[in-house]
Amino acid sequence: MDPLTSRLRGFGTTIFAEMSELAVATGSINLGQGFPDTDGPTEMVEAAVAAIRDGRGNQYPPGPGIAPLRAAIATHQFTHYGLAYDPDSEVLVTAGATEAIAAALLALIEPGDEVVALEPYYDSYAACIAMAGGVRVPVTLRPPDFALDLDALRAAVTPRTTVLLLNSPHNPTGMVLSRDELTAIATLARERDLIVVTDEVYEHLVYDDRVHIPIATLPGMRERTVSISSAGKTFSMTGWKIGWVTGPPALVSAVRTAKQFLTYVSGGPFQYAVAAALALPGTYYENLSSSLARKRDILCAGLTEAGFEVHKPRGTYFVTTDIRPLGESDGLAFCRSLPARCGVVAVPEVVFFDDRAVGAPLVRFAFCKRDEVLTEAVARLRTLRDGA
Ligand code: PMP
Ligand code: GLN
Repeated sequence: MDPLTSRLRGFGTTIFAEMSELAVATGSINLGQGFPDTDGPTEMVEAAVAAIRDGRGNQYPPGPGIAPLRAAIATHQFTHYGLAYDPDSEVLVTAGATEAIAAALLALIEPGDEVVALEPYYDSYAACIAMAGGVRVPVTLRPPDFALDLDALRAAVTPRTTVLLLNSPHNPTGMVLSRDELTAIATLARERDLIVVTDEVYEHLVYDDRVHIPIATLPGMRERTVSISSAGKTFSMTGWKIGWVTGPPALVSAVRTAKQFLTYVSGGPFQYAVAAALALPGTYYENLSSSLARKRDILCAGLTEAGFEVHKPRGTYFVTTDIRPLGESDGLAFCRSLPARCGVVAVPEVVFFDDRAVGAPLVRFAFCKRDEVLTEAVARLRTLRDGA
């Protein structure tokens, strides 16, 4: 008998684990799981080493996170967005954004509550809503531009909805919510008295002069918004798992209550290093985004040449493609066969959709890799078209 609870049935191994294992087993180029193949800033590495050597953070750090990191997060929110948060009552350090999402949903959802979220979903959303006993209600983002359908969003909200779960810039589609879209979402949230949980881990990965607008900056939203981010993406250290939550005291305190019984604390010395990284100058973020924009263009051009329909992303380090021009329609089968066919790993987006018909032909590739790796991947993918 399967000992797994009914809440978690259907949530087997994550697609990222499956595809990364396949990459290792076949020696393929891994454009599946989103992690950079170049580590973050040297200053950060040195700061972590120094913290370990100096005995800072080697024992349990304070539950809400070390004070210098909470102060650095508050400064980041103010410098980039004009959002003022009190480091003591309005900032919480978590074990990556993943724990922040889990703790927020566990803290804020009663069993049976509906959570409206944009699909395709980042995979942990559905599992965490299920663990919290909530019911997920999708609003589908559709190709080619994955724009938010505001009528569908309004229709998805019912008297049982308590939380709107947003993600912008959006994984996997690369969609970035515009000010007009955010204004409409904010109006709905205020009218229907919803809490907004917003996953902004790709806040600095936006391209073509687009800007990321935190929904907490819109009128009346700061008091009802839990904002989540992470050092993993911004500082290219996905293994460190230092994330954070900002929001009004009552919401942050609720999330902290759940968080303290999940991990209590994590990553003591890394917290010091992330505090140091958050003090890097603005040019750091500009260079990160311009370097990734170049990588995006290399991969998008190569995928187009290889015969994919490419949906060029406005943010994140993922590109969504449609495999139908290649004469294929089943993204899951395609991704499982791709390593053997040409030595490249990608992620089938169908696993992020409830509406499997929309997701079936969509395949995600990550471009947070060295230029030469992307060039080699593209050369391999081109052989699909050549029938080699
Ligand atoms: N949210 C989104 C949208 C993501 O893509 C990811 C993956 N990095 C996470 C959350 C998890 O972030 P972390 O690694 O900091 O837990
Ligand atoms: N966020 C990463 C992605 O979307 C994966 C993180 C994970 O493996 N859980 O690829």
